[in-house]
Amino acid sequence: MVPQALTRRTVYNRSLSGALILNSGYEPIKVVNWRKAICLWFQDKVEVLEFHSVSVSSPSRSYQLPAVVRLKQYVRPYLSLTVRLSRQNIFLRDNHICQYCHMKFSEKRLTIDHVTPLSKGGKHEWTNVVTACSSCNNKKGDKTPEKANMRLLTRPEKPRWLPNRDLDLEGNRLPSAWRPYLAAR
Ligand SMILES: [Zn+2]
Repeated sequence: MVPQALTRRTVYNRSLSGALILNSGYEPIKVVNWRKAICLWFQDKVEVLEFHSVSVSSPSRSYQLPAVVRLKQYVRPYLSLTVRLSRQNIFLRDNHICQYCHMKFSEKRLTIDHVTPLSKGGKHEWTNVVTACSSCNNKKGDKTPEKANMRLLTRPEKPRWLPNRDLDLEGNRLPSAWRPYLAAR
């Protein structure tokens, strides 16, 4: 268990204190908060590959927060299958960026667009849903991107893992320690 003093202490920058969990084969599978990461470490379930510069203290010692950890035992990638197809998860996958105008919006101003409209036989599945701002969604209407003459920023795919809601995966806010492990994905 994590010592009480550790759990009570506030880590100021939550978004930069999470840990990226890699499977034993180094595939990124999940992001967890620092407490969970320290628990896994204390339980000897992971090896720590990178640390954050932030540390937390208990009465007896201080701990640098793990930034990237690797599971000692392989976990079947069922974890990735459990990424639920929900509004929030779609926004997270697309980084809250409208896939048509490439601008970033708050959740309130975002909608889900079916690339091939449901009325044209499109399905409600990861590969047919994208994040769209309401004005792009209106503009596209009940058309395919080709018909509407609107190009998609990226082809929608089923995500293999999802970051925490608190994490901003945009550019420089991503912990630098994670980058080498995400680069090849
Ligand atoms: Zn837009």
